[in-house]
Amino acid sequence: MAVGFLVLVALLICYGAIRASLRKRADVTPKYIFLFIGDGMGNSHVAAAESYLSWKKGKMGGEQLLFTQFPELCMASTYSADHQVTCSSASATAFSSGHKTNNNFIGATPDSLPTRPFSMDLRDKGYKIGIMSSVPINHATPAAFYAHQTDRWGYYPITLQLPASGYNFFAGPGFAEYAGRDGSRKPTDTFLAENGYTVCYGPEEFRANMDKDHLVFCQESNRGKSANEYTIDYDTSWTPLSEMLRLGLEYLGERDPFFILCEGGEIDWCAHENSVYPMVQAILRFDDAIRVAYEFYQAHPDETLIVVTADHETGGLALGYNFDWQFSVQDWDRIEAEWVAEGCRDTLSHEDRMRFQNQCGFGWTTNEHTGAPVPVYAIGKGASRFRGRIDNTQIPSLIVRK
Ligand SMILES: [Zn+2]
Repeated sequence: MAVGFLVLVALLICYGAIRASLRKRADVTPKYIFLFIGDGMGNSHVAAAESYLSWKKGKMGGEQLLFTQFPELCMASTYSADHQVTCSSASATAFSSGHKTNNNFIGATPDSLPTRPFSMDLRDKGYKIGIMSSVPINHATPAAFYAHQTDRWGYYPITLQLPASGYNFFAGPGFAEYAGRDGSRKPTDTFLAENGYTVCYGPEEFRANMDKDHLVFCQESNRGKSANEYTIDYDTSWTPLSEMLRLGLEYLGERDPFFILCEGGEIDWCAHENSVYPMVQAILRFDDAIRVAYEFYQAHPDETLIVVTADHETGGLALGYNFDWQFSVQDWDRIEAEWVAEGCRDTLSHEDRMRFQNQCGFGWTTNEHTGAPVPVYAIGKGASRFRGRIDNTQIPSLIVRK
């Protein structure tokens, strides 16, 4: 009897130890981490993209983007330290470092002290780091992971802070203010080369330099000049974001852990212009890039985390209804025809564009950002932490386990 009791106690102790060990193992930072930011991408932007996909299949609805099929979904508030409606730099500072800051501050607290992005903690733990965007590499979202400024519009000073990050690769169209605001400063390529980074234009150059420790990918058409500050008409000659991510994964390999930030930046730019068709195309390209990460996740499901969210909503978009007009999936006929008829260029005046889009059931309330919460989608190791209502400052602690 006494022996049986002792065996039972021993078994219970073993069971407890195994459970504690399993819990501990589940509570570690994922080996491979992808954070995707759809700049300005609110719920209605996602709904518009999915209605477009449904229309393409001749359906009323039901078609989904890849990332909306992820098993975990929560909502994040986005307000900044000094405004209910955030800008991209304050929001990016929040989800890179866990600190609220003032609008236009980047990687700095309201007291102008530098914040520490979680990517630097990961770097110090041996993670390789890649920072990429479909808009210039010194724009707000990527910059919040390496720069510390109280003026997000000072692009050249932001570039000057890039090499100190020691991150492995950066990718995007190029850099705003390539030779400073007035063109008189040291060209970005030269500055980066002097500080340990090789700037490559196009995939071939990038592949040819994969033996180097620190690489920057830029679009071939931006060689030796500033990257476009703004374009609503996507340059089809560019290497798409999905291909940039493939190159980045090829460069980083699978041996070491890594963190990749990947931004679909022109979603916001199209929404600022209240231009729904190019905005939807930008979301589809963003989804294509997420598919590359998803394929990686499928090969490493127990070690990979993918998080997809936005920094804020832009435009106050609604798929709407009133007595004069209502949104219908068939309206994509007219919207796509109009876009193609104009040579896939945004040639309408703002008033004409708004009138036309209203007739098709799309309403915009502003050409700036709004204070609406944004969706957060997650799949993979640790994804179940993304549940309920969160604030954007919680994102670092939900991804990284101390
Ligand atoms: Zn914006």
